[in-house]
Amino acid sequence: AKSQGRGNFQFFEAAMNAATHERLLMENRLWQALERKEFELYLQPQVELASRRVIGAEVLLRWHHPELGMVGPDRFIPIAEESGLILPLGEWVLQQTVDLLSRWKGSLRLAVNLSARQCSGVSLLPLLDRLLRESGIDPALLELEITESAAMQDPERSRDLLRELRARGIKVAIDDFGTGYSSLSYLKLFEIDRIKIDRGFVKDIESDPNDAVIVSATIGLAHSLGLGVVAEGVETEAQVAFLRGKFCNEAQGYLFARPMPVGEFEALAGSLPVP
Ligand code: C2E
Ligand code: CA
Ligand code: CA
Ligand code: CA
Repeated sequence: AKSQGRGNFQFFEAAMNAATHERLLMENRLWQALERKEFELYLQPQVELASRRVIGAEVLLRWHHPELGMVGPDRFIPIAEESGLILPLGEWVLQQTVDLLSRWKGSLRLAVNLSARQCSGVSLLPLLDRLLRESGIDPALLELEITESAAMQDPERSRDLLRELRARGIKVAIDDFGTGYSSLSYLKLFEIDRIKIDRGFVKDIESDPNDAVIVSATIGLAHSLGLGVVAEGVETEAQVAFLRGKFCNEAQGYLFARPMPVGEFEALAGSLPVP
């Protein structure tokens, strides 16, 4: 029995080594990807529900690896976050975003996802100050999305950061609202502009009465606090009808459009100045 236990351990060890190896390989590929310019910004339109007009987009990162093909952010953002790559990568995303806003000359808003490490580091505010100064864009056209879990890693610091962002006129949204443990204390603690209702609540609003109540109450709560609301993951007209009935301001989801390359978005949003 003892030797078998040892065998299991060796097997386990081998599997661990393989996993660690795979992880390191991905990490190396990610650092190279930044140099080789394998990342691309995709944009998913955000739509004003009352008019169905595209009022902006969320920036979603894509990675084209020469052999692996298209790798989704759920597979590489966690590795980038742990390895520290997220800092130069996040800086690249913000630079590209500000370049787009400056090219579009003020017609649309862009929302960028912030990672936990970007929130807790010291480089974000100086970076944003430089980008705003160099581009001269209206800071209100830049929105930063922060998840509850990222902000709650260091609530005091996050509160200061969000205050500083808003002092600059940058908009702040809570991402995946309702999925954390402390959504309501978040509202008490942080000054924000908008709430993004997580897709997990929107998905079943037609069939699950609890979800319908939660979404409806969240919209009401947001409005009472003077905040805007974006519903994520809208896939059906019935969901649009429900959300409009509750005066939800904006929505985003496959019903309107999937995340798309910048050129496609510019064609869709129309009437943008061509460079
Ligand atoms: P997220 O911020 O919650 O982004 C929304 C995700 O839902 C996106 O997945 C989007 O493609 C997907 N989605 C949008 N509408 C629908 C819909 O109607 N139905 C369904 N089933 N899905 C929908 P994506 O692009 O794979 O991004 C996954 C996550 O990766 C994002 O979740 C975000 O947390 C992270 N991420 C993406 N880009 C960045 C980035 O530049 N920086 C950081 N830190 N994180 C990023
Ligand atoms: Ca987001
Ligand atoms: Ca989200
Ligand atoms: Ca999410």
